[in-house]
Amino acid sequence: MSNLTEHLIRPEIRNLDAYQVPDAAGLIKLDAMENPYTWPEELRREWLEALQVVHLNRYPDPQGNELRAVLRASMGIPDAMGLLLGNGSDELIQMLALAVAQPGRKILSLDPGFVMYRMIARFAGMAYVGVPLRAEDFSLDLPALSAALEREQPAIVFIAYPNNPTGNLFDADAVVRIIEAAPGLVVFDEAYAPFTDRSFLPRLGDWSNLVVMRTLSKMGLAGLRLGYLAGPNELLAEIDKTRLPYNIGVLTQASAAFALRHREVLDEQTRRIRGERSRLFARLSGLDGVRPYPSETNFILLRVPTGRAGEIFESLKRSGVLVKNLDGTQPLLEDCLRVTVGRAEENDAFLVALASAP
Ligand SMILES: *Cc1c(COP(=O)(O)O)cnc(C)c1O
Repeated sequence: MSNLTEHLIRPEIRNLDAYQVPDAAGLIKLDAMENPYTWPEELRREWLEALQVVHLNRYPDPQGNELRAVLRASMGIPDAMGLLLGNGSDELIQMLALAVAQPGRKILSLDPGFVMYRMIARFAGMAYVGVPLRAEDFSLDLPALSAALEREQPAIVFIAYPNNPTGNLFDADAVVRIIEAAPGLVVFDEAYAPFTDRSFLPRLGDWSNLVVMRTLSKMGLAGLRLGYLAGPNELLAEIDKTRLPYNIGVLTQASAAFALRHREVLDEQTRRIRGERSRLFARLSGLDGVRPYPSETNFILLRVPTGRAGEIFESLKRSGVLVKNLDGTQPLLEDCLRVTVGRAEENDAFLVALASAP
C-alpha cells in the first residue's frame, strides 16, 4: 500500500473487506434473494409507455411525493407516520447511522445477521456490537440481549424481522421486550415482509423509539433500488436531513409507482415463491446429511455435513448453480449454505446438483 493511501485512509476502512458480489454469468442465480420471475409481456409494454413521459433532463421530485402516496396506500402505512425513501434500504441504514453518529456511540444487532449494519457502523465511525443468537435454532437469547442493552447503551438496535441469513422470525413478545428496554432507536428491518404474515408496521406509534424499514428489492424490484422507512414524523424529519438531494432517480420513482399500481402481479409471484419454499424445504428435509432451517423469507439456510460446505458449494457451481457459502463467515454458520428460492425448474436443478454433490 502506498504511503499516501496508508496515511490518508482511516484504519477501520483499510481493515474492511469490500462487499463482494460474485460473477454469476451463465449460472442459475440462487445467491442474492432475487425474485426469479419477470413481468408478463403486456405489463412490460405498459411500463415502457409510462416511462415515455418521464423527463430525464429534469431533477426528480426531491421528496418523491407521488411515489410516497402510492407506497402509503399499497403498504398500509399508518397516516400519522412519516415516510422516507432510500436508494435501497442500505441507504436508509446509512442515513440512520449518520444522523446519530458521535464518538463512543454504538449500533447493536444480532449475529449472525445482516452484514450492512456492521459495515455502515464502521463507515460512520461507530462501534458495532453483535449479540449472538442461540446456536440451536437462531432464536433470541433474551438474557444476553437485555444485558448487552444495559451495558452498551446502543444508539440504534437493528432487528431484521425475519432475519437474514438465518431465515427465522424472532419471537414477537421477545422483540417487544427489546423495544421497551432499548435506550435509543429500534429499527425493524422488514426486508422479507412479503414472505411472512407478521409485521410491526401496524404497531408504529405504540413506542416512540420504533421505526420500520422495508425494501422493494426482495418482492421483485431489486434492480430499482428502493427502500422506505416509516416512523414518528418528528424523528424522521431529522433523519431526512442526512439524505442526499434527489436520492431516488426519476426512472425509479416512475417505475416503482407503476409496479405498485400493479401489485397483484408481484403478489402472485410472492405466493408462488412461498409455495416453492415449502416444496424446497420438504425436499431438503428428505436429503441425508442436510438440515434445512425453517424460513419466513425467500431463502433457506441449510447445514451440510461437517467440513463439506466448500466442496459442495464448488460442486454446485460446476453443475451451474450459484448459492451463498456462509461457512467461515461466522462461528454459528459453520457448514452452512444459503439458497434463494427460485423458479420450480431452478430449484429442481439445485436439488439434483446437491444430491449428486460428492
Ligand atoms: C437484502 C436486505 C436488505 C437490503 O435491501 P436493499 O433495499 O436492496 O438495499 C436490508 N436488510 C436485509 C435484512 C436484507 O436481507
